[in-house]
Amino acid sequence: MNTAVDPETEAEILLQGLPASPGICIGKAYLVHQGGVTVAKKYFIHESKLEAEKNRFKTAVKKASDELRRIIRETPEEFREQADILKTHVMLLNDKMLYQKSIDTIQNDRVNAEWALRKVVSSLKPVFMNMTDDYFRERWHDIAHVSDRIMQNLSGEAPVDIRNIDKRVILVARDLSPAETSQIHLERVKGFVTDLGGIASHTGIIARSLQIPAVLGLESATHMIRNDDLILVDGFKGRVIINPSEENLIKYEEMRYRYEVQVARMSRGAEAPAEAMDGALVQVMGNIELPEEVVSVRDYGGDGIGLYRTEFQYMSGNRFPTEFELYDKYRDVVEVMAPKPVVIRTLDINGDKAVSYTYPSEETNPALGLRAIRYCLQKPDIFLTQLRAILRAAVHGNVRVLFPMISSFEEVLETKRLLDKAAASLKKEGIPHNRDIDIGIMVEVPSAVILADIIAKEVDFFSIGTNDLIQYSLAIDRQNRQVAHLFDPLHPAILRMVKRVSDVARETNITLAMCGEMAGLPINIPILLGLGIQEMSMNPRSIPLIKQTIRALSVADTRDFIGEALKQTTAADVRKVLEEAYGCELSDKCYTE
Ligand code: PEP
Ligand code: MG
Repeated sequence: MNTAVDPETEAEILLQGLPASPGICIGKAYLVHQGGVTVAKKYFIHESKLEAEKNRFKTAVKKASDELRRIIRETPEEFREQADILKTHVMLLNDKMLYQKSIDTIQNDRVNAEWALRKVVSSLKPVFMNMTDDYFRERWHDIAHVSDRIMQNLSGEAPVDIRNIDKRVILVARDLSPAETSQIHLERVKGFVTDLGGIASHTGIIARSLQIPAVLGLESATHMIRNDDLILVDGFKGRVIINPSEENLIKYEEMRYRYEVQVARMSRGAEAPAEAMDGALVQVMGNIELPEEVVSVRDYGGDGIGLYRTEFQYMSGNRFPTEFELYDKYRDVVEVMAPKPVVIRTLDINGDKAVSYTYPSEETNPALGLRAIRYCLQKPDIFLTQLRAILRAAVHGNVRVLFPMISSFEEVLETKRLLDKAAASLKKEGIPHNRDIDIGIMVEVPSAVILADIIAKEVDFFSIGTNDLIQYSLAIDRQNRQVAHLFDPLHPAILRMVKRVSDVARETNITLAMCGEMAGLPINIPILLGLGIQEMSMNPRSIPLIKQTIRALSVADTRDFIGEALKQTTAADVRKVLEEAYGCELSDKCYTE
């Protein structure tokens, strides 16, 4: 991060982060405090105030207990298991080792309740962690949860509820979870600024898809920016300016205007097909997270929805949606797009997209954990509900179903078995549905690339998810700002993997699509065309630009060029040969120069 001027002077301060979503916005900062509970400070309590301090602790515990009981009451019957965990937490709240020991510590050490609690919890940690039985070691996490809850009540720090934001602001947060982002009233948010997160993080993806300028990975934006500071967000270059000068305000306002004119000009021609110079046709589609975004895909001239990320409907509520609720939303999207295709991807929760009401057991490495298809195969009831909703929506238009994070052949077989089961149950109940839909898998785990020839026999299409394929094959956490500079779709290993999948798709005559962020950047398009990608899906706003890029290229030429690109040994060299061969028209830098 780069700080140009001392904050005390009130002069302009420049922060450099990652350009996660293009666009420029200027407005007041709104800080969302997150990232855990305030660190407890120690202070002594006068003899005469000890009773009051103990009561303060008791009140915080009582409040935590009331909160937990309310959550338990609101937990649907089918999630009794999770409710049971919370019941243990209620018991732990009053457990002697936590409750009584904290009260004793307040009394004996004459310290504040936060410090007493912290001391007790720290002394308990080694006791649990040294136990040989896994079950007891795990109980440590329950204690940590319970003490966090009490601590939060003691500090009186209520988490900011983003749903209540009532003015047009730029959100500044340590990080924004997908669940939170999905609850934001979009018309009230001008831009996103975060300390954490890389370009391929879900906050980045959502910002792009909502067309909200965003700069992520600023590391200490939440310390540098104060509530109500005037800030300027440059989503092209990844800059945030606090207290921008008059000169910068004028310069950026002009840039914003030029960009909007450019976007409007391109959108006018967007309806026309993406026909390359040699007549080859490419399908350019949009990725959506929320059903409401279907309109922007249509307005930007999308040839369909290439990726409908369905998890967000699960994240915005406090229980699993019902079959009818899902069907109703899918049907809306399918009807708006008909006869164009809608690729509905089944639930991809966990990893970085946790759903609060499932109370997932803590995973040390969630990206490698019970995520996506693994979760669904372990919870067939939840999965069948969604599959039935998809098959019902398929009656209303052109639906394809896509399974995320497939890493083995058995998963494909089991998934198809459940799809058949969903169809059979609908048939038995006489509910209209359509089982005759194309089935595809996301190719986003290296093992799926290697097994592509085997899996191809069971599916109708592949959709390459470069966001995760890069994460899993290059071992780069897509959320981690520290390694964001290594996250490069032009890495020769990624190009070789895409080539392998493309060879298999051609040999087995199945459709090859790409729905990862790689497809939304003009610089990558000659490579993707050269590798035989027939369908590309991206954030809706990129559609006109990508269509325009395709129209300026010849697919036959890109096939000649791809040999050269695949010969390169580094991403920098790939980029160099691309720039030499295709030049500046492939870059969207021109808006801001
Ligand atoms: C991907 O991994 O490339 C992808 C499109 O899926 P998501 O970003 O939702 O993980
Ligand atoms: Mg993915």
